[in-house]
Amino acid sequence: MPVDAALVRAWVTGFADSVTAAKTELTKLDQAIGDGDHGANMSRGLTAVVAKLSGDTTGDLLRGVGRTLISTVGGASGPLYGTAFREAGKALGDAEPVSDTDFAAALRAGLDGIVRLGKAELGDKTMVDAWTPALAALDAALESGSALPEAVGAAAKAAAEGAEATVPMQARKGRASYLGPRSVGHQDPGATSTTLLFEALANAAG
Ligand code: ADP
Ligand code: MG
Repeated sequence: MPVDAALVRAWVTGFADSVTAAKTELTKLDQAIGDGDHGANMSRGLTAVVAKLSGDTTGDLLRGVGRTLISTVGGASGPLYGTAFREAGKALGDAEPVSDTDFAAALRAGLDGIVRLGKAELGDKTMVDAWTPALAALDAALESGSALPEAVGAAAKAAAEGAEATVPMQARKGRASYLGPRSVGHQDPGATSTTLLFEALANAAG
């Protein structure tokens, strides 16, 4: 099952809906270890994304999502998610539709963009701790011959597990790192919204 512009539209719209539905939960998580704006930041940015969503190809749509997130979301998460979408879109050029493996490679370029910008490593208690296992699961599933819906389902499950695994971590990047040991015992907000990102992808592909 190739990835096309219609799937990306469904994915991004579903992500916006689920972030807005989870706004209070994301806010609470960010109140515990940050400044309490992650739900509002993401919801505002994604509402703008859906309003402006345009493009005929998968890559064009993703690049537009990235631009809107970078320009509308203050806070660390806007530039980080925005860079991920922009880099994923850049990796795809204007091919349409896109093969499953090219799409997975584009998401990998997105994660590379997050790491280049934020310099977080695995275990620093950030969105990278959800993105990394999600993409590993996606690659492994595609390699073993799974179809896209099953592969992105595995990615969503791995993202959720990665987000849960941030609870006992001490934050070493972003605002939460200012808390030092007091950041332990709370799930990272950005890893939590990353779970919603991959769940929305699974829903759009399923
Ligand atoms: P801010 O921290 O500026 O208030 P948000 O609250 O919207 O921005 O986003 C916080 C989330 O951003 C964190 O939970 C974390 O997942 C992510 N984050 C922060 N800094 C980094 C970084 N350097 N690399 C990767 N992710 C980061
Ligand atoms: Mg915040």
